[in-house]
Amino acid sequence: MSKVETILANMKAVAANPKQAIADAQAKTGKAAVGVLPVYAPEEIVYAAGALPVGCWGKATKNISKARTYLPAFACSIMQSIMEMELEGVYDDLKAVLVSSPCDTLKCMGQKWKGKCPVIQFVHPQNRNLESANVFLVEEYKLVRKALEEALGVTITDEAINKAIDVYNENRQAVRKFLEVAADYPQVIDPVARHAIMKARFFMDKADHTAAIKELTAELEAMPKEAWKGKKVILTGITAEPDEFLEILKEFDIAVVADDLAQESRQVRVDVPEGDEPLMRLAKQWQNMYGCSLATDRDKDRIPMICDMVEKYGADAVIYCQMKFCDPEEFDYPLLYSKMEEKEIRNLMIEIDQQASSFEQIRTRIQSFVEMF
Ligand code: SF4
Repeated sequence: MSKVETILANMKAVAANPKQAIADAQAKTGKAAVGVLPVYAPEEIVYAAGALPVGCWGKATKNISKARTYLPAFACSIMQSIMEMELEGVYDDLKAVLVSSPCDTLKCMGQKWKGKCPVIQFVHPQNRNLESANVFLVEEYKLVRKALEEALGVTITDEAINKAIDVYNENRQAVRKFLEVAADYPQVIDPVARHAIMKARFFMDKADHTAAIKELTAELEAMPKEAWKGKKVILTGITAEPDEFLEILKEFDIAVVADDLAQESRQVRVDVPEGDEPLMRLAKQWQNMYGCSLATDRDKDRIPMICDMVEKYGADAVIYCQMKFCDPEEFDYPLLYSKMEEKEIRNLMIEIDQQASSFEQIRTRIQSFVEMF
């Protein structure tokens, strides 16, 4: 097995079996695990506490039954599966869980939390251009820090948070570089592998993920580039799961050359800026966030951003991965659709449902889509 194959196999194993990956990371580091629900949270504070932040993004599951007691059928697909997992005790080993509140569904998830660990809910201000928004968010993060200290029985120092910011910024930069390089190697980094590498980030110590990503990037750069005979697309939305969807892209020789997924590139889009006060640095990262349906932007710069990405990466089309019943993404879609039509950018909207049991309709739509160009 080559080095690239070994790294990809490891990442796929982590992404496919988070429970084992977390247990391995805990055995190696002795760290307690703290859950982090979508979409954004100051993970650096968790890391500074000496804990392992673990992303909780649901999973493909065909049977939602227990969650129906607490969530209406029109709650988004991803939260349905998280609630089901809570009720099945999947998160019972976590020491705490962080929940942000950027949408109506997430606002109620903290109140409805059924896991055994304490839930720490906080709010990102949406009027983000004001300095007072940063001041407000610093106060929120102070509460997060205090709650984590109580849950974990530790003291979280400013120095430790600044060090954690360095670890996370290094990881973001390494992942961004990997994504740029991977766009030139679609024969090696297919849609399933690309997603696994991004998903594994949620279950590994960030320093370990950075080391693996850097090694993978260096190996790719040493390989000759080959012409890609298939199509190239950009994915946008919350997530592009389950894997069956990505397998269909692979089946029809469709490469993902870039993405604007909340679970993937949006997580590494913006570094935490320099500064003295770590919580203010983290607050300013939120202020600097752009191109996301969950970070209010009256100018909707996400729309031209995606159109520019099509040109930059020579993409043939954009696939809008619409998370089932996700309001923030539904609000952006008509605007993006109109602009793409105006610019004659091929586009397709696919509904993403973690509870999907059949993918034949998606296969037919993807097949007919690629046959059109
Ligand atoms: S998928 Fe959409 S509706 Fe669901 S929690 Fe995320 S942002 Fe909210």
